Amino acid sequence: MKIVTTIKEVREEVKQWRKEGLSVGLVPTMGYLHEGHASLIKRAVQENDRVIVSDFVNPTQFGPNEDLESYPRDLERDAKLCSDEGAALIFNPSAEEMYFPDFSTYVNMTGPSDELCGKSRPIHFRGVCTVVSKLFNIATPDRAYFGQKDAQQLAVIKRMVRDLNFDIEIVGCPIIREEDGLAKSSRNTYLSEDERKAAVILHKALEEGKALVLGGEKSTAAVIEKITSIIESEPLAKVDYVQVVSFPDITVIDTIEGDILAAVAVYIGKTRLIDNFIIEH
Ligand code: AMP
Repeated sequence: MKIVTTIKEVREEVKQWRKEGLSVGLVPTMGYLHEGHASLIKRAVQENDRVIVSDFVNPTQFGPNEDLESYPRDLERDAKLCSDEGAALIFNPSAEEMYFPDFSTYVNMTGPSDELCGKSRPIHFRGVCTVVSKLFNIATPDRAYFGQKDAQQLAVIKRMVRDLNFDIEIVGCPIIREEDGLAKSSRNTYLSEDERKAAVILHKALEEGKALVLGGEKSTAAVIEKITSIIESEPLAKVDYVQVVSFPDITVIDTIEGDILAAVAVYIGKTRLIDNFIIEH
């Protein structure tokens, strides 16, 4: 496995693979890899001849008061995980490699990016769509892999690929969790011991919400209230949002019908965590 830092090097590798008739999978990440990322890489390795993992903490998707500077980084550890999983290449560019000083072209979406995290983090999806478009143009993969952990992001990327005619298959992968149900996340490393215990409340609340829906509850307000009240029972938790929306168009709905996404964003201390479930009707 190679680690490269320039766009030129990625293009040279891919060009060579294409000459050999090989297929290419891409797994975009911000690094500090865990088993959630590993599951995406594993799937990509199964379905493609060569897999590129991008490892880049993308500054354009962070707001001014967010955790860009403190976001955890460990390339050596990431490289071991990627190599163990069978990736062929890690692309670990600098911010300068990805963004010219006078960079001025962004991919802006309306619709699926408006609600949920789009409301709490106004420039987030503009940054995500822009960097993912760039990665797609750099790596020109046949398939790209995204986790349901970021369900809105998955919906946003699928819409972008459709709208902008990227010839790339987007593969969604299930959420990988800790034993107690907490969704694995690079940001879990911010949690103190007490906060880590408290963080399980996201999953607990969502499980209760899911049971309500599966039991036939049709009112989104009732489901939202149930989830919210459980999260609020945890003193270290502060709700950012609890929402039930249609999936994958991410519109606010009053009545549960068709495919739905129930999503939460919760501060545990200073750490903002997200989690969700999808029910297909
Ligand atoms: P990140 O490095 O957090 O930007 O995540 C990179 C990719 O890994 C995204 O597509 C995430 O949805 C996915 N991912 C992160 N955590 C998990 C998890 N616990 N289970 C499945 N996929 C995940």
